[in-house]
Amino acid sequence: MVLFYFYRIHPLLERHRARKWLRLHRPTMHRLLILNYLMGSLDRKLGACRHCDAGRLQLWEHDRRLLVLRCSFCKRNYTLTHQSFPEVRFLLRYMPSLMVVMLRIRKNPDDVLGRRLLEQCRPFTTFLRRDRNKPKGKSG
Ligand SMILES: [Zn+2]
Repeated sequence: MVLFYFYRIHPLLERHRARKWLRLHRPTMHRLLILNYLMGSLDRKLGACRHCDAGRLQLWEHDRRLLVLRCSFCKRNYTLTHQSFPEVRFLLRYMPSLMVVMLRIRKNPDDVLGRRLLEQCRPFTTFLRRDRNKPKGKSG
């Protein structure tokens, strides 16, 4: 209990821990930048939703071979493979890095590092939020 307040009252210590985590996970953070870039590239190619012409497509789900994007407005799903867009191959390859970041955010979403990571995962916000709302299994 005392430790809890100690960490809460000491943002300096929190920032120190954040820097330490970021140093340790530099390759992950590098891949996160690439993931952001690739999602931006896909977003420019896809543009607005074909069905409603209003929503943007956001990452919804993925498996080893495909990405599912969902319209933020009409909630229609789009399934993409690397045959449709070359970005998909690289997005899928770097997805484990997003998982590392996601686990850290889930562990402590409101500390300095959690907020900073959330900020840097903006193209994946829907995906992260959705995963956080899933019931936690043994691995969670
Ligand atoms: Zn739509």
